[in-house]
Amino acid sequence: MALLGAIEAGGTKFLCAVGEDPAAPRDIQRFPTSASNPAETMAEVIRYFESRRVAAVGVASFGPLDLASGSITNSPKLAWQNYPLGESIATALNVPVAVDTDVNGAALGEAAAGAGRGVRDFVYITVGTGIGGGALVNGKPLHGAMHPEMGHLILRPHPQDSFKGVCPFHGACLEGLASGPAMKERWGQAAELLPDDHLAWEMEAHYLAQACASLACILSPSKILLGGGVMGRTGLLERVHRETIRLLNGYLRPPEIVAPTLPYPALSGALAMARAILEG
Ligand code: ZN
Repeated sequence: MALLGAIEAGGTKFLCAVGEDPAAPRDIQRFPTSASNPAETMAEVIRYFESRRVAAVGVASFGPLDLASGSITNSPKLAWQNYPLGESIATALNVPVAVDTDVNGAALGEAAAGAGRGVRDFVYITVGTGIGGGALVNGKPLHGAMHPEMGHLILRPHPQDSFKGVCPFHGACLEGLASGPAMKERWGQAAELLPDDHLAWEMEAHYLAQACASLACILSPSKILLGGGVMGRTGLLERVHRETIRLLNGYLRPPEIVAPTLPYPALSGALAMARAILEG
C-alpha cells in the first residue's frame, strides 16, 4: 500500500504525518506557523516529506481558501494571503496534492475512522480559539461557491447577555459569542476557570444549540459532532443536545449530538484525501 502524506495547517502550527490508513496517522511532527514568512514554515514541511517518499499529500488547512487552486485567500494572517499552499507542495515534492478546509478535513477523518463512520450526512464543529464547521453531505464534503463558514452564523442574543462579541467582522456571531476568547473577554477569566454552574455554560450551550438547530434545518444531518477545547467541559455536550431539542421544539427530528472520537481528525482526513487522489 502506498505511503500517504497528511498536513494539518493551522494558524499557530503545521502538523505533518504519514500513514497508509486514515485511522492511523503516524510519525506526527509539528512546525510553528511563521507569522511573517510562509517560506520558512514550508521549508520545514517539505524537508519532512522529502525523507519519507509519499505518493500523495492531503492538506487540511486554515482559511479562507480557494479550493479550486488550493490557495489561502484573504487570511487575517497577512503574510499568508494568496499563498499557493497546494501548488507549492505539489511542485516541491512532485506528487499530487488535495487541499480542503481544516474542518472539512476533520469531518472526512471522522467519516473514515471515527464517529462519522457509516454516516453519510453529518456536521463537524470545533469550538476552541475559533469556531469552524465542516459538513459531509451524501458522503461528500460540502464546498459551495467558496466553503462554509459555520463559525460566523449570526445568532439571537441570550436574554441575559449584553456582550457585543469579539468577531472583528460581525461582533456577535457564533465565534464572536461562543469561542474560548469570547468567553474570556465576556467573563474576565479563561473558560476553563469558570465553574460548571456558572451562567457562562448556560449561555455557551444556548449559542451552540442555536447553531446546531440552524444547521439541522439547513443541512438535515443525522449527527453533529462537537469537538475542540471548549467542548472538553463535562456535561456541555449533553446540555447543547437538550437545548437543541428545546429550540427545534418537535418540528423536526433532532440530529444526534456526539463527540468526535479521533485524536487527530484533520490528519486522518488529510490521509483520506490523499488516498482519494490515488483512487481517482
Ligand atoms: Zn463572525
